Amino acid sequence: MQLLLMGPPGAGKGTQAAELVKKFDIPHISTGDMFRAAVKEGTELGKQAKACMDAGKLVPDEVTIGIVRERLAKDDCKKGFILDGFPRTVEQADALKGILDGLGLQLTRVLNIHVPAEDLIERAIGRRICKKCGATYHVKFNPTKVEGVCDDCGGELYQRKDDNEDTMKNRLAVYEASTKPLIDYYTKAGLYTEIDGRQSIEKVTNDLIGVLFSAQ
Ligand code: ADP
Ligand code: AMP
Repeated sequence: MQLLLMGPPGAGKGTQAAELVKKFDIPHISTGDMFRAAVKEGTELGKQAKACMDAGKLVPDEVTIGIVRERLAKDDCKKGFILDGFPRTVEQADALKGILDGLGLQLTRVLNIHVPAEDLIERAIGRRICKKCGATYHVKFNPTKVEGVCDDCGGELYQRKDDNEDTMKNRLAVYEASTKPLIDYYTKAGLYTEIDGRQSIEKVTNDLIGVLFSAQ
């Protein structure tokens, strides 16, 4: 199964990808996670990505397409994958098609988690992530049992530098201008399904899985 999880920043893509990984045992490929790992390691890619991420802008297409091309060529993707946060532009979507054609693959489904703009800033500002295992929480909507401590592994939680109101406004504007056109792109390709992301995390997961089983 080759899945693409779409949706504006803070819609719940990472949260849902973690559930789908448990269910389908296929890798979760998040370009945002890959860039954050590169920033942490201080690599050349990380240096290039950091300024864009801190400003809430997109990392240039050629850089982003390059890391996805490398990742999708790895053996673990042969059994399927969940793309999260890529593609974010029409150019990236065209490149993805080319990469998949080259691998003899095609997307199974594009699932868009729809959440209205007014909810997204609160979701992002309250987001907390485990430093150790990457699990995602929310101070209000999905809190840990002990404040600041991951339920799964006991790791310490942190807040992303770009999860503040100003940067979120830029990220939402970038989403509207560059990423939203992909809704039309994948509708025309006959792959698009929209899920109501305002429901509880469990209900969104159920809806996603329901669509995937009926698509098989
Ligand atoms: P994305 O990967 O799309 O940027 P995340 O999965 O990181 O989004 O979710 C953003 C924030 O919203 C996180 O703090 C997460 O815990 C929270 N969240 C995710 N899904 C829901 C939901 N259905 N209802 C309320 N909060 C949610
Ligand atoms: P995310 O974790 O998906 O919210 O992404 C965090 C940041 O990483 C974005 O605001 C961008 O700066 C960068 N990024 C992630 N994915 C992409 C992509 N597909 N294209 C360009 N930039 C990206």
